[in-house]
Amino acid sequence: MGNERVYNFSAGPSMLPLEVLERAGSEITNYQGSGMSVMEMSHRSKVFQKIFDDTQAKFCKLLGVPEGYKVLFLQGGASAQFSMAPLNLIGRTGKADYAVTGNFSNIAYKEAKKFGQIHLAASSEDRNHTYIPAQEQLELDPEASYFYYCANNTIYGTEWQYVPETGNVPIVCDMSSDILSRPVDVSKYGILFAGAQKNMAPAGLTVVVIREDLAGQELPYTPLMMNYKTMIDKDSMYNTPPCWCIYILGLVLDWLEEKGGIPGMEAIKHSKAQMLYDVIDSSRRFTCAVEPGSRSDMNVVFRTGSDELDAQFVKQSVEAGFTNLKGHRSVGGMRASIYNAMPTEGVEKLCDFIRAFDQNN
Ligand code: PLP
Repeated sequence: MGNERVYNFSAGPSMLPLEVLERAGSEITNYQGSGMSVMEMSHRSKVFQKIFDDTQAKFCKLLGVPEGYKVLFLQGGASAQFSMAPLNLIGRTGKADYAVTGNFSNIAYKEAKKFGQIHLAASSEDRNHTYIPAQEQLELDPEASYFYYCANNTIYGTEWQYVPETGNVPIVCDMSSDILSRPVDVSKYGILFAGAQKNMAPAGLTVVVIREDLAGQELPYTPLMMNYKTMIDKDSMYNTPPCWCIYILGLVLDWLEEKGGIPGMEAIKHSKAQMLYDVIDSSRRFTCAVEPGSRSDMNVVFRTGSDELDAQFVKQSVEAGFTNLKGHRSVGGMRASIYNAMPTEGVEKLCDFIRAFDQNN
């Protein structure tokens, strides 16, 4: 390995903007004259409190979080939310609806079954999760405590292009792999959450946006640390929060604002994805199994149809300065994760590489 940074197409943890890493590096031993690193600060200190408050305020502004919602900075990864959401919400009616469109919604669905009566409102398993069910295909129960779905399926490369219409049933959504890449009408959600390690910050932080009136109805055995009310009442500081990750998130949000905020980022990420899909669709060798209209702008899956050729592609891509293009073991083929921090230039170079491989094989 040399000194050059590689184009890292990892599904997560993934690239952070270079400007953010450089800024964090420049402040790593002495944050703005405080004489210490953010990693060394008490989370109760004034200096850190300001970092926390500013990051929370910037997040609310950029995502457009309305009154009545609270932004929480938690730990436990997105996976902890698979338990936390049912523990806190299912007590309302004892029932919930789940749409299973990939690996992570399936894990969430199975986990929720421990806590109540869970109904499979939709599944895309019949076609190996290559599409997103349409609104008419959702079997919704008006008595459900909530409806759950995963906005972007990191492994299968599908993304919901609409917000389901659920009447008065609150929506819980896992946005781990597409948060901050497209505008979100937060008021349509009861809870949205995301692990930070794709579009926001290093692993260790989970951002939860919750409609405050949904908290306080947890099952009686809900652990203190898994109770949204505990975290709302203590503004995420019931215990030590992931301080360093929160600081980096603040820097990422500044960077995002410079890119034109979420609408600016939406245009950039869409053109990157379109470029890649165009090259795949017009190639001889490569195909993308995901149905048009369900394709993810964040995780682009493709293959040649030959396992041997796929392996060659991956091997040669590493030699050409790209990493982590191998598809997930459950899907095979290739996957290019092109989150917000992936420079357009990285995608252009990958497109050139795909075209050349296509011509030579
Ligand atoms: N949800 C989605 C959509 C993911 O892509 C991932 C991880 O890749 C997870 C949940 C699990 O996240 P964590 O590892 O933070 O628990």
